Amino acid sequence: MAYSFLSHLECSRTGTTYDADTVQGLSADNAPLLARYDLDGVAATVSPAEIASRPPTLWRYHEVLPVRDEANVITMGEGMTPLIPLSTYGAKIGVPGLLMKDEGVIPTGTFKARGAAVGVSRAAELGVRGIAMPTNGNAGSAWASYAARAGLASLIAMPLDAPLITRVECVVAGAELYLVDGLIGDAGRLIGEAVAARGGYQDVSTLKEPYRIEGKKTMGYEIAEQLGWRMPDVICYPAGGGVGLIGIYKALLEMRTLGWIPDQLPRLVAVQAEGCDPIVRAFKSGAKTSEPVQNASTVAFGITVPKALGDFLVLDAVRATGGTAVAVSDPALLAEQHTLAAQEGTFICPEGAACLAAVRQLRESGWLAERDRVLVLNTGAGLKYPDTVQVDVPTLPHDGHIPAAPAA
Ligand SMILES: *Cc1c(COP(=O)(O)O)cnc(C)c1O
Repeated sequence: MAYSFLSHLECSRTGTTYDADTVQGLSADNAPLLARYDLDGVAATVSPAEIASRPPTLWRYHEVLPVRDEANVITMGEGMTPLIPLSTYGAKIGVPGLLMKDEGVIPTGTFKARGAAVGVSRAAELGVRGIAMPTNGNAGSAWASYAARAGLASLIAMPLDAPLITRVECVVAGAELYLVDGLIGDAGRLIGEAVAARGGYQDVSTLKEPYRIEGKKTMGYEIAEQLGWRMPDVICYPAGGGVGLIGIYKALLEMRTLGWIPDQLPRLVAVQAEGCDPIVRAFKSGAKTSEPVQNASTVAFGITVPKALGDFLVLDAVRATGGTAVAVSDPALLAEQHTLAAQEGTFICPEGAACLAAVRQLRESGWLAERDRVLVLNTGAGLKYPDTVQVDVPTLPHDGHIPAAPAA
């Protein structure tokens, strides 16, 4: 039985088909390529009941993933992250059915591990010897880590301001790392030039190779399976390049074709920071693509993407499902990060906290109803961003005393 039912690649703009068994970048029309599968074959081969008996990693969906030979899978046990009810917090903001899928507990501490596990495995299977990418930090740490495990070289460039820990993670994984005094677009130009000049590296920038989406789409399969092959009413996602949202939408369409979920799809919400909100602006103006944001800046560093290559795919997914796009301020998302830890005990990343600020905002505006079952993606661990929270803690002399009662 085939491990993968990958059939071909398709240009996301024109539908032109491409061979899936050679190394591919963008389509001839400079658009991302999407992996297509023989879904009739998948439906005839595997059922949700059979999947339920498999190990709890994203590879349980291997028929709809691109790696052809199981021996080529590079894994650290990624996937099947928990769905946590946020009952206390949800009740307080008027959305008692609030759920969070927590990607903070995956290898490397962010959901970037999904794209890296699948992308690196497939690159190595196709004979690639080295990967190169610009990153806001988390993707670089994930791809460098999986590349190390696969024995591939990695060449990475990130902004000087990217979270310090991601720098360290790249270096310990043996990556050739450069810091750039600029934004991710500047890092992308440097990587593009180096890949062209050096040879031997595949440019695995966001959406410039087809398989990162495939890794990230497994969040959609997992949400369905963990909810008994039903879907919440709304899914909120912190969108930078938007790969996770494009991937979840792709998974929804595949699962519907497979007959694994009902026809009615959840409304998809793209959440951005006010300091970098190109997709929100395009959504509001009715545009099909976004305009680059000038002087982009937010503490939610993973979503600082002034212009996403796949913006039209994100906008399509949001509009096709009756969703929306919202921007939240840095103070609002930082407050949410703190409130959630205090009320639910979970310290999430600023990007995930942006989704909670958006849920609060959408409930206040009436876009969300009390009965809506809303799922937010927490895309990473708060532990990766220790500097986003300032605390003031009393220091006692060695012969001092703890006060009789906590300070009011
Ligand atoms: C990269 C990243 C995002 C945004 O992901 P895209 O696929 O680029 O939209 C969100 N949260 C965190 C923590 C990230 O690292």
